[in-house]
Amino acid sequence: MKNIKDCIEELRFKLAGGLVKNVVIIPHISPDGDAAGSCSALAEVMQQVCLQWHILTCDYMPEYLRFLKHIPKLISYQDKPEECKRLIAEADIIFMLDHNTVKREGDLEPWVMEAKASRVIIDHHLEPDEEDIVISDTSVSSTCELLYSVITQIWGRDIINEDIANSLYAGINTDTGGLNHNSSRPETYRLIAELLEQGLDKEYVHEHIYQMNRLSRLRLIGNTLLNKLRVNEEYGVAIMPVTKEELERYRYRDGDLEGLVNIPLTIRNVVVSVLITERKERIKLSFRSKGKVPVNEWAKKWFNGGGHLNAAGGQMESPLEDVVCKLKETIPLFFEDVAVAEKKK
Ligand code: 5GP
Ligand code: MN
Repeated sequence: MKNIKDCIEELRFKLAGGLVKNVVIIPHISPDGDAAGSCSALAEVMQQVCLQWHILTCDYMPEYLRFLKHIPKLISYQDKPEECKRLIAEADIIFMLDHNTVKREGDLEPWVMEAKASRVIIDHHLEPDEEDIVISDTSVSSTCELLYSVITQIWGRDIINEDIANSLYAGINTDTGGLNHNSSRPETYRLIAELLEQGLDKEYVHEHIYQMNRLSRLRLIGNTLLNKLRVNEEYGVAIMPVTKEELERYRYRDGDLEGLVNIPLTIRNVVVSVLITERKERIKLSFRSKGKVPVNEWAKKWFNGGGHLNAAGGQMESPLEDVVCKLKETIPLFFEDVAVAEKKK
């Protein structure tokens, strides 16, 4: 296993060779704050070092993340498939940010797979795929935290400006639920202190992420908590199904359900919270947990997903009610697995 510093050196070497001119930056499907923040920060660095760059997404960036520098310029495959295909074909390097496999790039996947470009993963999820360069660290809070090391090791601390600091902080803050989970390393706080020294405008970032709600979004969250939330008291599992009809009723926009899944974890004795959303063509599951409950195992074993110990996701193609039933059925099975694994330790 190569260490992270050596992998970053490999990237430095590749970029210094003079053969890299066109850069494509790709976040994961349904981008979150960490994916958006890392794409924004890397695009700004590419801009400063005079490389041609494009951020491409298979779907859309939620409204609340569009304040980040360069994010409004991204190109969605849903709007401009031909342009995305051309840019991917012409790219010399493709950065895969905040995901560990091309499979998390949705409709872009086949084009990325056949591109001539080198592929570089910068990510903090377990078990990354083998790619040309893999800069992966599962101990950090977020991809943005890792990206800071990449940027400063290659280009030095002075390249970090206010925009980069804001973007990296947005990723660190959102991926840790506001420095709640996955954020017990002193290094994370030293990094935030450095970002403040380099121009981070914390109030600006907080205002845009947490204080730009629409009333309809609050109503959707309120309705789900009041009328949809059910708690399995025996195991401490909270379940919230949200139907397509409800999304339409409350004029859902991408990102409107962000953060909702964390709220039931504030209930005493609830250790797992699951949000199940009926999307256009599939059912999306979001898992969150407290302590050492490995919800990524639950998502992986029964719901075609994965993720981190305390934050994971999955998807199903069956009807919403069937997914809810399956989730309920797998509660005792999952906790049995957890107990067996505990005993083995
Ligand atoms: P979210 O619930 O916010 O969509 O996702 C939580 C975490 O689980 C994220 O770190 C995300 O990368 C991961 N995740 C979400 N959906 C999937 C999925 O379908 N497959 C895998 N492998 N990971 C997922
Ligand atoms: Mn992340």
